[in-house]
Amino acid sequence: MAPPHGHGLDELILTVLSQSTNDRNRDVAFLRLRARFDSWEAVRDAPVEEIEEAIRPGGISKVKSVRIQAILDAIGDPLDLSWMKDAPVAESQRFLVALPGVGRKTAACVLLFAYGLRDVPVDTHVSRVGTRLGLFRPGAPFEELHDAMLDLTPRGQEHEFHINLLRHGRRTCHAQRPKCPECDLRRMCPWPASSRPTSS
Ligand code: SF4
Repeated sequence: MAPPHGHGLDELILTVLSQSTNDRNRDVAFLRLRARFDSWEAVRDAPVEEIEEAIRPGGISKVKSVRIQAILDAIGDPLDLSWMKDAPVAESQRFLVALPGVGRKTAACVLLFAYGLRDVPVDTHVSRVGTRLGLFRPGAPFEELHDAMLDLTPRGQEHEFHINLLRHGRRTCHAQRPKCPECDLRRMCPWPASSRPTSS
């Protein structure tokens, strides 16, 4: 499991870039942005078209470029989130979700991956797998899912639990055709048997 890397602002922008694309295209967009501008202040102050051009491989670059600059503007000076390392998690969460277009999942990515703090991102895979396994109330909004996820995650296991559910969703518990016949969790999974594919 990768240790916290300590770069909250990088994680925040990376998470914005991850919307509606895959990890590879997200990373290409991020690296192009970092290569073209030597600081986040330079990204904030550049013409928006230059940001859009740099992050184009990540998709919906028009929307993301505007959002990135709005976030950097809203953070103000200094452009730095390292104070979160020593702040109460709830205070940092409040700060992050008040930024334009930032929700609980993005906030949790920053707090957990950058600083190793107690928060757990619930993305579409984690939400689907957790709901099928009966960990979440079906149809619960993402705010509730994050609170529930935190309640059931043992302290110190935040990163591992998130990654395990995410991988299970990507590799086995697919949205359309979950591989139930070969799933290790099949015996404990309450997802209605009538919905599950059966082995032939
Ligand atoms: S048994 Fe099927 S629905 Fe349940 S966790 Fe496994 S793959 Fe997902």
